[in-house]
This record gives sequence, C-alpha cells and structure tokens, in this order.
Amino acid sequence: MWFQSCLTRPSMEVESFSDSSCTDDEPLSWISWFCDKPENVFYCQVDFEYIESAFNLYGLKDEVSDFKRCRRTILEEINDSSSGDENIPKYWSRPEVADLYGRIHARYIVTNAGQRAMAMKFREGHFGKCRNYNCPRQYVLPIGLSDKLSESPVKTYCPKCHDIFDTESDADGAHFGRTFPHFLLICRPDLLPRISPANAHKFVPTVFGFRLHKTSPLYANRVMSNMPASTAAAPRGAFPGGFQKPQARDANKLGSFPALNNQGKKK
Ligand SMILES: [Zn+2]
Repeated sequence: MWFQSCLTRPSMEVESFSDSSCTDDEPLSWISWFCDKPENVFYCQVDFEYIESAFNLYGLKDEVSDFKRCRRTILEEINDSSSGDENIPKYWSRPEVADLYGRIHARYIVTNAGQRAMAMKFREGHFGKCRNYNCPRQYVLPIGLSDKLSESPVKTYCPKCHDIFDTESDADGAHFGRTFPHFLLICRPDLLPRISPANAHKFVPTVFGFRLHKTSPLYANRVMSNMPASTAAAPRGAFPGGFQKPQARDANKLGSFPALNNQGKKK
C-alpha cells in the first residue's frame, strides 16, 4: 500500500516524496518510469485502481493489440531500480504499452483524480509558459487537435489568449484530447487567469504613431470577423488608408506602450 500512495501523486510530488521517504531500493513501477522521462513530461501518473477497473478500460481491448500483456506491463514494478536502466525490462519500451497508457491517460485526465493530477502539474508549470507577448508568465495546458490517434502531436493551449502552440514533444495529441483543457477550466475556475483592465497587456498596432483603424486590411482580417457589422463602418475622421486620428480617450491606452508611442511622437 505504501507504493500505491506514491503512484497516486503527480510526478513532481513523487520526486520529492522519493527524496524524503522512498529509497533507491524501493520498487519502480512502469508508470513512474514512463512519466519520469523528459519527453513524457505532459503525462500524469494514472492511478493503479483506475487501470485495474475493467469498466474504465471498456473498448480498449479491441483497439490495442496484445491488450492483456500491455495492461499487465503497465501495472508492473521491478524491485531493484537502484542500478538504473540496465535493470529495466526491454519489453517495457514496447510502443504498444505506451499506446495503451496514452489511451487510458486520455480518459483519466477528465476524471476528478486526473484533473487534480493535471491541475497540480499546471500550477507547477510542467507544461510550460505561453509564448505570446501579451501573456507574460502565463502557464499553458496540453491539448490535442484531434481525438484520433496518430493525427497530430500534442500542442499547448493558453487559457489567457486562447492560442495554440507547437511543442517539442512527440507525444500523441489524442492522449490528451481536444476536450481536456477546456473541461478542466470549467470544472476548476480557480485555475483561470486573472485579467484586470489595469494590468491587461494588449498590443496596439501603430504606423508612425497612428493607430490603425479597425477597417484597415492589415488589422481587419484578424479582428473584424468577430465584430458586429455596426462597428465595422469607418467613423468620421478616419484617415485614408485605414489610419485613425488619435483621440483624447485613446491617449491613455497608447500611454501603456511607451516604447511604441515614443517612436511616433510629433515633434
Ligand atoms: Zn497566451
């Protein structure tokens, strides 16, 4: 039972737990071995109890070749892990085993226990940060662009700008699925980024210090599709070519980007 308690913890906790309580002589499970690999950092550790339940794995038997053996391997542990990889059985590296674990993982991370494990990894920053300039220090979540296997590697999703980013991981996106990050944020609103108008970073495109009008082709293609038609018409005073004369009410907004404004100040 002591070992089961290790397995229910996400990888980071297992590491710290290992440092304090587990010793090198203690067994190493396939799940720990797999999830501790750097390339598998996006995966959390699925509970033994979840994998042991036939109900949770319903349908996978017909989808994975040699299902019983793969499942047995996932639940395996070796006694002596102290001398490193030479003691790891070769069949632990079979792609079919990882394939089955990935399919189980996709189901597990939308359960309460799976969400807790992934939320902890999210808070610890295991999935990385958003690369968008407007999202400083915002952590991201893994997402699949398809729920079908082998169609696309895992991506990351930013809860702040809602953008999707490539990753260096080759993990199958279906092991995370299209639903996971959104479902997690619905169930766990405490994970949503806090955005207040005072500290919101919003990049404003300018040319020689003038803001581009929203009807400018450069700007319109990106933004206008989400705007109501009534706001699409150019207001009075709009400059030819899509420039917009700076308004007094815009001064405050522009003021939040001194580096950009200073370049275009009239002298
Ligand atoms: Zn972002």
